[in-house]
Amino acid sequence: MNGTAVVVGASVAGVRTAQALRREGWRGRLVLVSDEHHTPYDRPPLSKQLLTGAWDAARAGLLDEAAARESGIELILGAAAERLDPAGREVHLVGGSVLPYEIVVLATGAAARPSPWRPASGLHVLRTLGDVTALRRDLERPGPVVVVGGGFIGAEVASAARALGREVTVVDPLPVPMGRAMGDAIGRLFTGLHHRHGVATAFGVGVEDVTGEAGALDVRLGDGRSLPAATVVVGIGAVPNDGWLRGSGLPVDDGVLCDEHGRVPGHDGVYAVGDVARWHHPGRGGRVRVEHWTNAVEQAACVAHTAVHPGSPRAHAPVEYVWSDQYDWKAHIVGRPASAPTHRMIGDPGGTPARFAALCSDDGSRLTGAVVVNWPRAMLRARRMTAAGTGFAAAVEELSSTVVAARA
Ligand SMILES: Cc1cc2nc3c(=O)[nH]c(=O)nc-3n(C[C@H](O)[C@H](O)[C@H](O)COP(=O)(O)OP(=O)(O)OC[C@H]3O[C@@H](n4cnc5c(N)ncnc54)[C@H](O)[C@@H]3O)c2cc1C
Repeated sequence: MNGTAVVVGASVAGVRTAQALRREGWRGRLVLVSDEHHTPYDRPPLSKQLLTGAWDAARAGLLDEAAARESGIELILGAAAERLDPAGREVHLVGGSVLPYEIVVLATGAAARPSPWRPASGLHVLRTLGDVTALRRDLERPGPVVVVGGGFIGAEVASAARALGREVTVVDPLPVPMGRAMGDAIGRLFTGLHHRHGVATAFGVGVEDVTGEAGALDVRLGDGRSLPAATVVVGIGAVPNDGWLRGSGLPVDDGVLCDEHGRVPGHDGVYAVGDVARWHHPGRGGRVRVEHWTNAVEQAACVAHTAVHPGSPRAHAPVEYVWSDQYDWKAHIVGRPASAPTHRMIGDPGGTPARFAALCSDDGSRLTGAVVVNWPRAMLRARRMTAAGTGFAAAVEELSSTVVAARA
């Protein structure tokens, strides 16, 4: 493999793919392109340590110039790819530069879903280092904060804003926003967590409009209520950065469509990875797009292996996994607990601190997912047992005996 590999997008999926390409034996030129001006950084700390101020931006770094040089990675920053020509095997950058390639890996991720409301100022989304800097500046201003969207990012922003002493209300049209990821029964425990930390919730009601300006915003709800806010944060999901591929002939539909190895069918040498990839998941019998850090890391390893060793491609068929830090809860979600009708609670969600594992089963016979809080060993076991398809009763038994052993 002596040609040029171009990786477009330099966050966790792009960086990990570039590093893995070298490890797998890519000896040719290796170019990593980013439309951001910062050296590559990680996003999970944006809504956690960077928002509270516990970390500075450098701690979220993924790859600096020296490490890139050492790995033989050419880092091109502040240069958006604007067009892909898969027949001519070229990536065209804004400004006119052209990068010919033998393989190209599309790792352009996702962007925050834009806010439908446009007050003069004071409204934020959270996806980039620039976003967190601007939001943190506004959170220093006294006055209430309204968070629109009670999913992971909204919940983490609420938690960080409380840590900064702000009065917070979270609004979401769903009655139990966390239920989307973990089912309503477990999701309600997270609603209780917000309330215990002094957060007000307006769930089951949507936002009609946000007007005003920073320091004096008005959030009008669907039920006629009006919430005053100094700052509004909108966390209503993400959309894949696939618009630049329009016209390339690649199959794009809510992400780049690819097979279980990350290969884009019909386009030799083109791969997709991370939040932008909608790949065929062998275990799920269809295509999925997953917006979680661990998925990007694991898929990067598979794609790099497949690209360097096309004769022995490696399939990406993970058990989903995501973590979230909210107040004093370190939550881990394994598999797809939201759809599971059977749950079994082990440990104590009401303890101080809480420590529990809610084990879940789609069919009542196998462990298919779990929500684990403040219990790292149980999380590791739950991930292992879910991947192995361990029987539900055996999984309950194994974790229950851990609790008993810990008490003895
Ligand atoms: C605030 C926040 C907190 C999160 N917390 C967690 C968490 O606790 N746990 C968890 O599992 N996951 C978390 N995630 C999700 C996780 O960060 C993402 O799944 C991960 O970042 C995906 O990586 P990626 O490289 O595929 O995409 P991205 O991180 O979106 O990176 C894509 C990169 O490509 C660049 N790019 C886009 N278009 C172009 C172009 N045309 N040319 C060049 N470059 C381009 C982008 O600017 C970006 O730098 C969080 C995400 C956010 C935003």
